[in-house]
Amino acid sequence: MSTLRVAVKPAATMKVAQISKPGGDFEFVERGIPEPNPGQVRIKVQACGVCHSDVFTKEGLWPGIQYPRVPGHEVVGVIDALGAAVSGWKKGQRAGVGWHGGHDNTCPQCLRGDFRNCRNLKVPGISYDGGYQQYMVAPVEALVAIPESLKDTEAAPLLCAGVTTFGALRASGALPGDLVAVQGIGGLGHLAIQFANKFGYKVAAIGRGAEAAALAKKLGASTYIDTKSTNAAEGLQKLGGAQAILATAPSSKAMSELFDGLAPNGKLVVIGVDSEPLQVTPLQLIVGTRGIQGTAAGAPAAEEDTVNFAEITGVRPMVEIYPLERAGEGYARMMSGKAEFRVVLTM
Ligand SMILES: [Zn+2]
Ligand SMILES: [Zn+2]
Repeated sequence: MSTLRVAVKPAATMKVAQISKPGGDFEFVERGIPEPNPGQVRIKVQACGVCHSDVFTKEGLWPGIQYPRVPGHEVVGVIDALGAAVSGWKKGQRAGVGWHGGHDNTCPQCLRGDFRNCRNLKVPGISYDGGYQQYMVAPVEALVAIPESLKDTEAAPLLCAGVTTFGALRASGALPGDLVAVQGIGGLGHLAIQFANKFGYKVAAIGRGAEAAALAKKLGASTYIDTKSTNAAEGLQKLGGAQAILATAPSSKAMSELFDGLAPNGKLVVIGVDSEPLQVTPLQLIVGTRGIQGTAAGAPAAEEDTVNFAEITGVRPMVEIYPLERAGEGYARMMSGKAEFRVVLTM
């Protein structure tokens, strides 16, 4: 008797770097390729940046994360499947997803068009599986079109680090020709200096140690202030005072010490994260009507402005590239603070 043979197509699988419990190590596993639901697309991921905020997922520092979870919110790839009711995007199109992973369109903030501050903001890698995998599903309102001339590994960090610095400068109120200081020359700072230069500011870069001076100038700073040998606030006042200081290094103490470097009506814009309080007296704010403002990443429209601006001006992140299976190593490199300057995974 002959046996009836039925050809069974093996279920398509993909490689994933996941965290299965708070504080757990990266696990490199195989999973089924997900299907997009209505209003979602599936992206064949090409590159995903490793951001310090991935620590929320790795260490379970964000409330409500369900494990196992795949981190990653600096995702660039190609759309390879469309869910029902998706318009405006097509298969084969390059797309990215940044920190802003979706909004509800119904909360008081969304109703005012303020999507970045949605009360139910979703973040890839936290609210749902992010970009440390070969295929990712994302809601259509989170998508960003990626310009042709940007490499995947260059575009990815622009979707969080890039939009954060670009958006902070746009919020700073500084005008072309103004003195703008960038504190910290790292993952955020090296992008901030480039953007500030292309915005037409006079850029003072503030770092610790003489070694960073040459790089700061190459990135577009006209002045380098070494906090090891100089009081940076006095250094800025000698230049006339900064209209904005973009604080990227995670040190509240260093930010507080810089405040007196602001010109009248100047603003300290904070994007570096530290849990210690800033220390500024009311008088420091009142005299010269100076302010402090925090800003976060930005909505997909701002992410798209960032990549488009980078394309035409030549602003590019400096990256170290690791393959997906070495995600744990790439993450450790990012956490060491020694990476120059963003770590990016390729699939
Ligand atoms: Zn990030
Ligand atoms: Zn909302």
